[in-house]
This record gives sequence, C-alpha cells and structure tokens, in this order.
Amino acid sequence: MIKNITVIGAGTMGNGIAHVFAQFGFSVTLVDIAKEPLEKALATIAKNIDRQVAKGIVSADDKQQTLDRITTNTSIEEGVKKADLVVEAATENTELKLKIFKQADAAAPAGCLLATNTSSISVTRIAAVTKRPELVIGMHFMNPVPVMKLVEIINGYSTSEETTQTIISLSKQLDKIPCVVNDYPGFTANRILMPMINEAIYSLYEGVAGVAEIDTVMKLGMAHPMGPLQLADFIGLDVCLNILRVLQEGFGNPKYAPCPLLVNMVTAGKRGVKSGEGFYTYTAGSKELVVSSQFL
Ligand code: NAD
Repeated sequence: MIKNITVIGAGTMGNGIAHVFAQFGFSVTLVDIAKEPLEKALATIAKNIDRQVAKGIVSADDKQQTLDRITTNTSIEEGVKKADLVVEAATENTELKLKIFKQADAAAPAGCLLATNTSSISVTRIAAVTKRPELVIGMHFMNPVPVMKLVEIINGYSTSEETTQTIISLSKQLDKIPCVVNDYPGFTANRILMPMINEAIYSLYEGVAGVAEIDTVMKLGMAHPMGPLQLADFIGLDVCLNILRVLQEGFGNPKYAPCPLLVNMVTAGKRGVKSGEGFYTYTAGSKELVVSSQFL
C-alpha cells in the first residue's frame, strides 16, 4: 500500500508532482540540493492551489491540508528513508539520474518502488544501476502536472507486472489517465513531439517563417492549443535540447539532430519561460505573448 511518496527534484515538474500527490492525501517528502529551490517550490505550490481555489476546483481548507502533507529535505538518503514510492524529477541528465538512483536504491526501504519522470532517458538503463530493477518504472507526468491528465507509464526491460499495475492504479487515484508504453528513446510522447518542435525551430532558422507565423499556422491549422515554439519555451529549451540529443544518440539517426539555433539559444542561457526569454519574452504578471526582439 503506497502512502509515503518522496519526490526528488523540486523544479517545474517536481513541485507539480508533489502538489498532486499531497492533494490526493499522500504524505510527500520533497528533496532538492538546497533550501532555495525547495522554498521556491512550496511558494509555487501555494500559488497554484490558490488558482485552483479561485476556479472552485478545491476549497480554501484543502489548501492548508495539502501544504501540511509536504515536508522538505536536502538529503536523498534522509528523504527516501520511509518512502513507499520515490518519483525522481531531477534535471534531465543521464549521469545525474544514475547517481540519484544509486543513492535512492541504497537508502530506500526494501520493496519501495523507484519511478523516474524522465522525458527520454532509458528506464532500463536507470534500473540497471539499482539492485531492484523489477521495481523501477517510468512515471512520466505532463506539464503542468495539476492540470494535465496523462501519465505515460514506461515499462523498463525488467519492470514487473505488479509494479506496472501499482503505478496504473496510483495514477488513477490521482485522477489521471495512465497510458503504458515500452522503453525506447523518447518513449511515445517525446518521440513524436520533439521532432515536430525541432522542425518548427528549423523552419525559423532557415527563414521559412517567423515565430508568430509558425505558431499561428500550427494553432489555427492543426488546432493545437499552443504553437510548437511557445510549447518549447514552456517545456524549457534546455529540456528540449537534452531530449533531442537522447533521441539522436539512441537511434543513431541524424534526423533527430537538434537545430543549431536551439543549441545556440541554450548556450546563451535562453531557456524559455523559466529564464524569462526564449522564442518569446516573458514578464512576470503579464500574459501577453511577446516575440523575442531577436526574432523581429
Ligand atoms: P527543472 O530544471 O525545472 O528542475 C530540476 C530540479 O532538479 C532542480 O530544482 C534541481 O535543483 C534539482 N536537482 C538537480 N540535481 C539534483 C539532485 N542531485 N538531487 C535533488 N535534486 C536535484 O527540470 P524539470 O523541467 O522539472 O524536469 C525534471 C524532469 O522532468 C526531467 O527529467 C525532465 O525531462 C522531466 N519532464 C519535464 C517536463 C517539462 O515540461 N519541463 C515534462 C515532463 C517531464
């Protein structure tokens, strides 16, 4: 029976995952490398619950109860000690994730499930550094976690049927819709999404169309709620770049090579919404979509 959840990484996804588990009554320990990202995550969760209260999704009483279910820790070893399930949502970097899983595996109780929210890194590879590969699985939430219904569940090579069934039923308890897929680079969501985003960036890079035109074509022509360039900013340009590199390396196929413009933007620190600038410029408190001056 899963009661205690430890979420490792308190960034964009980690705070959303902690929020949803706490909202549905689970005890959550949120772990990050320092106090600052943890404090920022708690503030974000509080703000996002306020938004849910304003929309009538939850009551004002639920807010405090949800926040009270979340504790924080800066040590993985301490944070996973009582966990029934660990959900890792740290930076998309293979070496980092392998290190985190070794640490979590060594410190978590026997029988504790270890899930990764990775967008593209092999679950089988992550599982192989642990002594419990049958209990390791991909639990890929979508951004923003409190809003998006899908959980892409990724079976690694050694994931047991029991582990998969537990994560399917847990996802349903969170009012999400699970979809089980197999472990190949990018799984299903990003295998299809990232080449589209990369092609949109190539279209901009080669001068086929401007930022607003590319996004308008995809919004109005394909009924996408957000254009691919805005979506890339929202996901994080660094995250997109990392996923494309995993696809390129995993399949050995040049068609996944990231557009040089994306590489340049990430190198220059333009990571999209989280850095304040990507294809668009973001000002706190403003909802207006302003194309970055670089692309005018
Ligand atoms: P992020 O950069 O917003 O947050 C990552 C967090 O991990 C940071 O707070 C960082 O301090 C923390 N971290 C780094 N090393 C750590 C360690 N050793 N121990 C504990 N915490 C550590 O990244 P994100 O966008 O939240 O992505 C997290 C994961 O979720 C990635 O695997 C990413 O591929 C995946 N993902 C992202 C999205 C998205 O839209 N951003 C969607 C689905 C899945």
